[in-house]
Amino acid sequence: MDRYKGACFCEAVQFELNLKNLDLTICHCSMCRKLTGSTGFASLEAGESLHLMNTDGLSILDSSTVGERAFCNKCGTSLFYRFKSSNEYFVPPAIISDLPEENIKLIEEIFYDNKPCYYEFSNNTIKKNEADFQ
Ligand SMILES: [Zn+2]
Ligand SMILES: [Zn+2]
Repeated sequence: MDRYKGACFCEAVQFELNLKNLDLTICHCSMCRKLTGSTGFASLEAGESLHLMNTDGLSILDSSTVGERAFCNKCGTSLFYRFKSSNEYFVPPAIISDLPEENIKLIEEIFYDNKPCYYEFSNNTIKKNEADFQ
């Protein structure tokens, strides 16, 4: 498995990780959209492999009973989602260096029924709704 390096915009948070695969998931839930200020939280699965190298800017938000999110408190970059029970990390591709982008595939959209009507990805994806997670 390839080891990748990553960092926030200002590099006050730096990390290394392995990726389980290059299958991209986008979460459309309101929390992900609010916390990224974007169309959703796009992430790759890093399992338990994320290792922090520089934590100068690291802040952790205890965002729900199941998960926490990290961001850089110096530049504001959204860093990762971590499942508390399994210690699995989900990391946005844009903060990982030297990814083979041509091999990344957007395969899944979750909390699809939480997506606002004003955008739609054209990729042929597996779509899961909020009820699929209850
Ligand atoms: Zn930063
Ligand atoms: Zn979400």
